[in-house]
Amino acid sequence: MHFPAFDDFYQRILFLLPFAANLRSNEFDYKTPESWQVKYPQCGGPDQSPIAISRRKVIPINLHPLLFGLYDEPFDDLVTVRNTGHTVDFMVPATIYGVKPFVTGGLLRDCYEAEEVHFHWGSSGKKGSEHVINGRRHDLEMHIVHRNNKYLTLKEALNYSDGVTVLAVLFKVVRAGPMFYQPGLNEVFNSLLHLSDFNSSYTVPERFTLGSLLGNLDRGNFYTYKGSLTTPPCSPVVQWHVFAEVLRISDKELPKFFQLHDKWGNKLLKNFRPLQSQENRLIFHRQPFIPLQQEPLQELIWL
Ligand SMILES: [Zn+2]
Repeated sequence: MHFPAFDDFYQRILFLLPFAANLRSNEFDYKTPESWQVKYPQCGGPDQSPIAISRRKVIPINLHPLLFGLYDEPFDDLVTVRNTGHTVDFMVPATIYGVKPFVTGGLLRDCYEAEEVHFHWGSSGKKGSEHVINGRRHDLEMHIVHRNNKYLTLKEALNYSDGVTVLAVLFKVVRAGPMFYQPGLNEVFNSLLHLSDFNSSYTVPERFTLGSLLGNLDRGNFYTYKGSLTTPPCSPVVQWHVFAEVLRISDKELPKFFQLHDKWGNKLLKNFRPLQSQENRLIFHRQPFIPLQQEPLQELIWL
């Protein structure tokens, strides 16, 4: 017996299956991060992030500073911040010069364009930075993801070991005191109140610069190592730059993250990956050049 409507139904299901599978591949949760590798084998592979960084184990390196191109030029478009269900993020627009901000210098051999900014946090009872520095986990971590501009898209860049660099900034909460100079960051924090629901988005009414997310951060003092994305597919293609200075934010800002919800309607909390093994990787510490103290003039005269 033949049921045309029934056949049609199954044909539609067969047609939609690949899309459904594709959608599922973007799904992961922070309750069972050890199972990510079942669907995403690279999550169980080498060179994974985040890691613990200890002052005693890092290698001081005499390195040129990072160069921040167009970081302090205004965007040519408004920024739209989204609740993705895993984090809060926004795509970096071009600056008024028609090109996105970029970084180069340091250990980087190429030019890396800023693509996307997102955050990792904990809960009211648990700190939620991903990287741990000198045994200390901090309240919040911001990632500015950059694509090597010799690759056309971020997706393409994930296939190459020099594909991505991420700048990581850690934050600690302090009781509201003086205002901190990080106006771009304040715009993002204020947008969180509009992003409570999964998939919601909010366009920030003010234009800002990417550099204003960093405030007065010491951009010359950072740890750098070879690692991975900290979310699936965990591609081990990231030159990490974790800034040594921990920026301060007001205790009024952090709880704005805690009222966000994921796609199941649960509170979106503790979206940080557990620490990964350092293996035999080297972690370098670059500090601003400190000139040697000059010989006292008197001694020179006696000589
Ligand atoms: Zn991240």
